[in-house]
Amino acid sequence: MSTVDLPLLPLGRGRDLDTERGVECPGDLPEASDPALVARARAAKEALGERVFVLGHHYQRDEVIQFADVTGDSFKLARDAAARPEAEFIVFCGVHFMAESADILTADHQQVVLPDLAAGCSMADMARLAQVEDAWDALTAAGVADSVVPVTYMNSSADIKGFVGRHDGVVCTSSNAETALDWAFAQKPDAKVLFLPDQHLGRNTAVLEMGFSLDDCVVWNPLLPGGGLTEQQLRDARMILWRGHCSVHGRFSADVVDELRAKDPDVQILVHPECTHDVVLRADLIGSTEFIIKTIEAAEPGSHWAIGTELNLVKRLAAAHPDKTISFLDRNVCYCSTMNRIDLPHLVWALESLVAGQVVNRIEVDPETERWARIALQRMLDLPGKSHKD
Ligand code: SF4
Repeated sequence: MSTVDLPLLPLGRGRDLDTERGVECPGDLPEASDPALVARARAAKEALGERVFVLGHHYQRDEVIQFADVTGDSFKLARDAAARPEAEFIVFCGVHFMAESADILTADHQQVVLPDLAAGCSMADMARLAQVEDAWDALTAAGVADSVVPVTYMNSSADIKGFVGRHDGVVCTSSNAETALDWAFAQKPDAKVLFLPDQHLGRNTAVLEMGFSLDDCVVWNPLLPGGGLTEQQLRDARMILWRGHCSVHGRFSADVVDELRAKDPDVQILVHPECTHDVVLRADLIGSTEFIIKTIEAAEPGSHWAIGTELNLVKRLAAAHPDKTISFLDRNVCYCSTMNRIDLPHLVWALESLVAGQVVNRIEVDPETERWARIALQRMLDLPGKSHKD
């Protein structure tokens, strides 16, 4: 049983092969103060032409997003890259697990580059393969593994997606979690779901969308022996939620929602399902980043919104919709710190290296992991309806 917590890792130093993210960034980065950075990025992109395709996740900084050929959430971006086979180089301005997914879904001749290897995801780091294998052993010992279908959120490492593929499970996004859970529960009589790694998305979907009760859910704590659960609890549960969360969306709190409503009775609260259950319960609308963007685009002029998702996206939405009042659902600044590791100096360095014929920070998933992760992703693509669309 793994009971060792992840050590705090000073970003950019040393190596820790157990973490989802890498830690090194070799080479000479341009100075952040270099006034020519924008011109250099533009020139490098022009020199590479169709050979490069730059993906920009919605949570990226503006200085990076301006160079993205396409923006979106992680799954949309990976599919966009796969639809551009002429692009030899996919520069993924996002985090490590996203670049892995792009590598899994793109062709062999396409090389995926992450401009800063320290851009990991704290949520993905909360479920490591050894921990999940330990949990599966415990489920086996409790006599329930045969009825468990693992479901992992897109925001997980390729290792975890591979584990899920090997154990007849499926990947989901925040847009299709309900459909994926419906599929999982239909796989076996008396099926249970092991939901990785975001407990909040799992709980919010099971309870608010599918009619399960909170008592149907238990939380597996990978840092405690037996997950901190008895065998009876495992036998009784329908949803076994991995104790992971997003460090950005987990910050929003119910008291701020109450405070905003008291100040402005017209405000509509729009949040991502990675937020905690008490926040989601108080929200008017809940959905993925794509849903949040579309909701604001379709909103009436003059409407008031408080949005619970990453701050770069909220700021861009506010700037793009000056006819609507858009505020951030937290008292404090709340960027995704690892996503923000991708900055203009790193992007320039990655692009200029490609121009010079050097592929830096390539993200490559090993063939066996890729095979099983692709199976888990394909099961998601095969889910009924348009559930995998945003
Ligand atoms: S916003 Fe949350 S889930 Fe997304 S990359 Fe950052 S830590 Fe991970």
